[in-house]
Amino acid sequence: MNSFEYMEQAEQDLLHTYNRYGIVLEQGRDVYLFDTNGKKYLDFAAGIAVCALGYSNEEYKAALKEQVDLLLHTSNLYYNPPIIRAAEMVKRASGMDRVFFTNSGAEAIEGAIKAAKKYAYTRDGYAGHEIIAMKGSFHGRTLGALSVTGNQHYREPFEPLLPGVRFAEFNQLDSVKAQVNEKTCAVILETIQGEGGIYPAEQSFIEGVAELCRKKDILLILDEIQCGMGRTGKMFAWQNYNIKPDIMTAAKALGCGVPVGAFLLTERVAEKSLVPGDHGTTYGGNPFVGAAVSTVLEIMERDRITVHVQKIAEYLWKRLDELKDRHSCIVDHRGMGLMQGLALTVPVGEVSKQALEKGLILITAGTDVLRFVPPLIIEEEHVDAMCKILDSILP
Ligand SMILES: *Cc1c(COP(=O)(O)O)cnc(C)c1O
Repeated sequence: MNSFEYMEQAEQDLLHTYNRYGIVLEQGRDVYLFDTNGKKYLDFAAGIAVCALGYSNEEYKAALKEQVDLLLHTSNLYYNPPIIRAAEMVKRASGMDRVFFTNSGAEAIEGAIKAAKKYAYTRDGYAGHEIIAMKGSFHGRTLGALSVTGNQHYREPFEPLLPGVRFAEFNQLDSVKAQVNEKTCAVILETIQGEGGIYPAEQSFIEGVAELCRKKDILLILDEIQCGMGRTGKMFAWQNYNIKPDIMTAAKALGCGVPVGAFLLTERVAEKSLVPGDHGTTYGGNPFVGAAVSTVLEIMERDRITVHVQKIAEYLWKRLDELKDRHSCIVDHRGMGLMQGLALTVPVGEVSKQALEKGLILITAGTDVLRFVPPLIIEEEHVDAMCKILDSILP
């Protein structure tokens, strides 16, 4: 089939939940993708912050192939070595104490919400607790995750969602304080808002929220699904802030393409939270994803990916700032590490379409932001090539 035939068939068969870009991707190599016509694209999206190691990590691929031959799935009724190794590694990277592996980010959020509710239920002896979430947030598409997602457009057709969710302004501590009452059991936020438009939490805000939570025994849930796994120059973005969550979520780059997520608890929370019968998953944490997670973490640790990210992110920052100086349509540049955004006054969807034509994969965030979440292994030459293309597109 040629690419038009693929696209035509896809539009007939797949549920139309995405307006896809008009290319059919077939192969990946290094930090490049190739479509069915053999056209090459420099990838600055990494499958939405997933493919952190790029597309040619032979060690990662070999580990997956080896596990395919050994054992893919067991269910959680039994132990399996790869996930035990993965749990140990993700605990070490995060400093958290207990992990539950899921199949996606949204499911990690579901688990985090249930863990917080169960903690408060065990502590107080009754249910009916409330959660504070942020306006402009994104936590996923399942009904629980949607309940804490502060985007009316995503929510409206599916209401009523979970009761007892109150929304506060991100980066406004007083707004969070105003939503606290005796029923509040958790505050959930992305350490860096991703889909909402690349907004990092401010130091004083996240410190203030952490202190508020500590004083009132409210659990701080940090969603690290997009900003975690080395992307900010630390393994998890909250490690930049001198605070620690009670519950955190990871996904996206956790498996670098193998679908896996996780929620993690401190021991203090775990002691009063989910017990046998409270939560489960058939696939979650199977040997295959265990091999993926442990190999990803091994490679990232050994190769000091965070050190590379710190260096290359600084270079990306400098080059994007230069673009901002040259193009008045760029009105803001924000982010952290290899999670950066440019706010534009021209339609960002058009810019990303033109980029594709010129062999560059770029995605958007919010309504007016170009989002840069490349594989973490990019080098200066890739940043230069990206900036050259973007420079030629922007008015
Ligand atoms: C992508 C994302 C999710 C949802 O993850 P899925 O794997 O798509 O369910 C949740 N939170 C954040 C911050 C995300 O970026």
